[in-house]
Amino acid sequence: MTSSGTPVVPGIGTGPVVVTSERVEAPADEVHVDHDTTVAAVAAASEVVADRLTARAAHASGAAAEVLQATAAMARDRGLATFVAKHADASGPATAMTAAVAELATMFEAAGGLMAERVTDLLDVRDRVVAEVLGLPEPGVPSPDVPSVLFADDLAPADTAGLDAERITAIAIRLGGATSHTAIIARQLGIPCVVGVRDLPLDGSAGTALVDGTTGEVLIDPDAADAERRAAEDAERRAASAAWTGPGATRDGHAVQVLANVQDAAGAVRAAAEPVEGFGLYRTELSFLDRSSEPTVDEQAEIYRAVLDAAGPHKVVVRTLDAGSDKPLAFADMGSEPNPALGVRGLRIAIERPELLDHQLDAIAAAAAQSSADVWVMAPMVAVVSEAVDVAARIRQRGLTAGVMIETPSAALHADRLLQHVDFVSIGTNDLSQYTFAADRMASSLSHLTDPWQPALLTLVASVAAAGERAGKPVGVCGEAAADPLLACVLVGLGVTSLSCAASAVRSVGAMLATVTLEQCRAAASAALDADDPADGRARVRAILT
Ligand code: PEP
Ligand code: MG
Repeated sequence: MTSSGTPVVPGIGTGPVVVTSERVEAPADEVHVDHDTTVAAVAAASEVVADRLTARAAHASGAAAEVLQATAAMARDRGLATFVAKHADASGPATAMTAAVAELATMFEAAGGLMAERVTDLLDVRDRVVAEVLGLPEPGVPSPDVPSVLFADDLAPADTAGLDAERITAIAIRLGGATSHTAIIARQLGIPCVVGVRDLPLDGSAGTALVDGTTGEVLIDPDAADAERRAAEDAERRAASAAWTGPGATRDGHAVQVLANVQDAAGAVRAAAEPVEGFGLYRTELSFLDRSSEPTVDEQAEIYRAVLDAAGPHKVVVRTLDAGSDKPLAFADMGSEPNPALGVRGLRIAIERPELLDHQLDAIAAAAAQSSADVWVMAPMVAVVSEAVDVAARIRQRGLTAGVMIETPSAALHADRLLQHVDFVSIGTNDLSQYTFAADRMASSLSHLTDPWQPALLTLVASVAAAGERAGKPVGVCGEAAADPLLACVLVGLGVTSLSCAASAVRSVGAMLATVTLEQCRAAASAALDADDPADGRARVRAILT
């Protein structure tokens, strides 16, 4: 039997199937002693859960360690304890915890954006605490003795972060989207991963499986010899990725800058250790998610300078604050909006608060003056030409190279006009697909629409790349699309001049590009544009490039 989903981390994993354990429910007849006993039991269990997560964080690194620490902090959260206390008058500990989390989850969901995303962590904390108060083993991922494939309905980020890539060869999950935390962490751990596999058998009926994180296929009980052959070919590809040293180019020497996406100095230092020619997207807003007031220009300059320094003499594309929607910044809050993703976010904040943009540009210019990096600056969420004209003037006044992101269909349609006013453009495929398909990028149930292989999305990319060629100006891609080695070749065939992706994906993208010619990339691009849907596109392109 073959199932399929959205591939998010390339590579092949095979082995016996393990399924995440069922969640434990609070028993209907749970004993209630009194308020204080319930509160104390939940507090003690929460502490044990938090300690375990913190211990695991100590053995993890990067995004995985951050997720484990954040989940531990949620288990210790005072606010959560207050909600438990509200339910402790009449309920035992497991029931009070369940009721408290249900109430909080509803509030988080109503808040939307990043808060809504944290619901998965909240439910994960609930399940761990409930198991602990009932004296049952911690729920979640089993630790198999032999390398195995993990099947799950959904996977809490903390579970994904704790995975051992030696034991879990691949992940297939029924829910989840390409931009979910699970996908991001699986990518960091280098574990092949497919999400949104609707008919994934979770009842223990699957004996062995092969998960192909490049095609999205999940083969249940595959032919053993065939699985072995595919796994061996994949191992060869991985070895080639590990050996890739850059710079980015096709086999016949067509240069394509391969760059990393970064968000802070520590990540920038890690990314600079990869064979990259710089950073194609520095998401500045992520440094300020917990700030209640605007950081001073000096403070900002120091933060930016640390990232620029990590790049050495290379290019760094600094993105101005992309606040709002799923990344709210308290100091750039424009009040509640019925549709935050369609509201005042990104560059639009400068309409009412131009000083925020000016201060940030002053800080970037100050950092650039003290660094040897080649600093480019771009604005997110540009929709019309006048916005590009305005922001380009402000950037150039400070002696910096000016660009805009192409994240809205209107910007893609008018790329020719935008390019008359800026030095470069960079396509943010995550948002461009969200706005092209009217499909929330956070909604796992819509991940088939926000799949970057959608031919309509690629048609927009093609038209922007063609505009770049006409203007003789660079066109980059810095969304998740650039992290997929096969799709990266398609983007190059469409005329894209640089690819910026997670540092962990850089080598597989660079190594794949080095095996194909520009002509093959162009053939792959036209096949992907002609495809009926993402699966058809992947199959056609694989046939041309591999
Ligand atoms: C994008 O939208 O593709 C992008 C790169 O920006 P972000 O993911 O930060 O919105
Ligand atoms: Mg974006």
